[in-house]
Amino acid sequence: MIQIAIDGPSGAGKSTVAKALAARLGIIYVDTGALYRTVGYYVRQKETDPKDPVAVEALLPEIRVDLSYRNGTQTVSLNGEDLGDRIRTPEMSMYASAVSAIPAVRAFLLDTQRDIAKRHSVIMDGRDIGTVILPEADVKIFLTASDECRAQRRCEELCAKGIATTYEEVLRDMQERDRADSTRAVAPAIAAPDAIPFDNSWMTPEECVERIAAIVAEKTAGKSLH
Ligand code: C5P
Repeated sequence: MIQIAIDGPSGAGKSTVAKALAARLGIIYVDTGALYRTVGYYVRQKETDPKDPVAVEALLPEIRVDLSYRNGTQTVSLNGEDLGDRIRTPEMSMYASAVSAIPAVRAFLLDTQRDIAKRHSVIMDGRDIGTVILPEADVKIFLTASDECRAQRRCEELCAKGIATTYEEVLRDMQERDRADSTRAVAPAIAAPDAIPFDNSWMTPEECVERIAAIVAEKTAGKSLH
């Protein structure tokens, strides 16, 4: 089995690369951000301050987050309900970022992430995959792109989903979230010492996928996928 960790800030193209490689290799793509978004969603539903560690921790026993896969597509359910794109709004991005800084939330989601990688070959994207979740991963990539490129991509993604926003708003939210994610005390979004830094600002998604596929092929040569 193999483990591939793709970390980096929002909008760097992690999910595009991870989805394409998972399909190509026939392995599972785990979108770990969806887990934090799901916890954030519940906290919002309960009208709780996502920055209040005591209040958020008190809600955790009421939450069951499950990951399942059908034809390679991930579904994350909250207490049995698939939330779909309801976790993809800019508001949920901020809620996810706020709750993800709480150590009890990270501990709560740890086993869900590690268990899936014990049972399957995975490509997992997030912020702390190479540093905390899968420190022994076969391949670790830290994907980045300029703020402007990332904001532009995120903007297009949100528009495609019919979520109304502006470039300026996306850029501001993204920079705020990146700052919070990379400076938090627990599992900050930083590259593992053995991660390969990869800036794809000036690449097409196809080119980025091809280049990373080549790195993965080299690093996992001779390893069985199943
Ligand atoms: O990747 P995505 O934008 O969906 O992640 C939403 C938020 O969840 C991030 O801003 C980050 O705060 C948090 N996150 C995290 N660790 C991960 C994945 C996501 O802290 N492995």
